Amino acid sequence: MQVLKYNSTRSKGEFLTFSEAVVKGIAPDGGLYVPTFFPNIDIHDPELIKMDYVTLAKKILGLYLVDFTEAELTACVESAYDSKFNTPDIAPVHTIGQASFIELFHGKTLAFKDMALSILPYLMKTGASKTQMHEEIVILTATSGDTGKAALEGFADVEGVKIIVFYPTDGVSDVQKKQMTSQEGSNVSVLGITGNFDDAQNAVKALFLDESLGKELKDKGFVFSSANSINIGRLLPQIVYYVNAYLALVREGTIKLGDAVNITVPTGNFGNILAAYYAKAMGLPFKTFICASNENHVLTDFINTGVYDINRPFETTNSPSMDILISSNLERFLYAISGGNSEVVSDLMRGLKANGRYQINEIMIENMSDFVGGYASDAEAVDTIRSLYENHGYVLDTHTAVAYKVYADYVRETGDQTQTLIASTASPFKFLDSVAEGLGIDTTGIEAFDLMEVVAKKAGLTIPEPVVGLKDKPVLHPKTIDKLTIKEEVIAIIK
Ligand SMILES: *Cc1c(COP(=O)(O)O)cnc(C)c1O
Repeated sequence: MQVLKYNSTRSKGEFLTFSEAVVKGIAPDGGLYVPTFFPNIDIHDPELIKMDYVTLAKKILGLYLVDFTEAELTACVESAYDSKFNTPDIAPVHTIGQASFIELFHGKTLAFKDMALSILPYLMKTGASKTQMHEEIVILTATSGDTGKAALEGFADVEGVKIIVFYPTDGVSDVQKKQMTSQEGSNVSVLGITGNFDDAQNAVKALFLDESLGKELKDKGFVFSSANSINIGRLLPQIVYYVNAYLALVREGTIKLGDAVNITVPTGNFGNILAAYYAKAMGLPFKTFICASNENHVLTDFINTGVYDINRPFETTNSPSMDILISSNLERFLYAISGGNSEVVSDLMRGLKANGRYQINEIMIENMSDFVGGYASDAEAVDTIRSLYENHGYVLDTHTAVAYKVYADYVRETGDQTQTLIASTASPFKFLDSVAEGLGIDTTGIEAFDLMEVVAKKAGLTIPEPVVGLKDKPVLHPKTIDKLTIKEEVIAIIK
């Protein structure tokens, strides 16, 4: 029988175990690790429909983490998906007509990043011990707002690990910023970076690929890894909630087992939607993938034309976690639609680096015909929050509102009535200004954090426990740096 391994999207010289891939984070050639094949999951297996989230997670992750023992896998999954989540369903589904929202914000930081970052520290610790790594792991993370906090929560006070988070100072919401700058833990550092998310992500990627720095650290007993979705350990746990949501629709009677569904995802780095695509590769009957963007609609244009082009202004929007032009997980998608052709992927990535642009070939375009793209403006997102609230009493955050708007456009244009799973990626309490606007609240004179209570009262919601009292928490990490000094900062922190 073929044993599942991991190789880089840019070369096939090296085949790694999951443990090795999760600890490394990124391949030495700059590529991302991908599984050598997709294991099959039989949705008609009568056991599957009875599984709770934890059981299903063990089943699916077990197919990928083949070098973990059953006891190791169980420990990781059970430590991750427990009472940290405020519902035993972990990722419940909320159906309104033909739209079914997968609520991915019931974890500690109120964004979907918790789904993977609750388990990643356990996967990494287990992987490090299995590969007999003796160095201390230094997690470097660039964040557009949500990854940073979720990674900090996941890794705070984990022994043998340090974590350093970089966020764009003016590119995150007030709640997101305070969540990060007030983070406790003896092993955590949080730094603002002047510039946008792409600047932060590029600066961090360069550190990973800096060989002399890598060697210097190794001599001192440290090794870098990543908690961004370039890490395969982020991606695989995200497959679970798509399978779980599909089964939930069957259980609630919205669809019959075997029926096709469409998928809509508010997209930035392309990790979340890629996990749904991987679920399809495993056998889930997912028909059309609707990739939703905000004003930074580089992905919409790519899906419509086959040309990826970042030579355009970077827009700061009210869905900041999607303010990205260089979508790193798209590389894994290119690998898939090129039939696993690492030369083609390397060429495209060279083009991106040199010219900020590349064009895929006809076969690849054909292979992504199950993807459609669309985008929404800030004003459209706010209007969508308003209409869902007024018509259904359901409150969306700005990112999910972008997704719903693009979904609604798609339905209007195509008449496709297929039941659709929409990834609901954040709690409305993280993006209060725009949500308040959508709910028709006059925000003049109300301070950012006081909006929380006003929004809760108006919508009849309870303020989620993790952000109660956030306003009064002390800022422990006030520092902002220039991206050019990132290397010195990191070296100083490690010392
Ligand atoms: C990260 C994030 C996204 C984008 O997800 P990707 O996997 O990067 O495409 C969308 N919405 C929210 C709230 C997020 O935090």
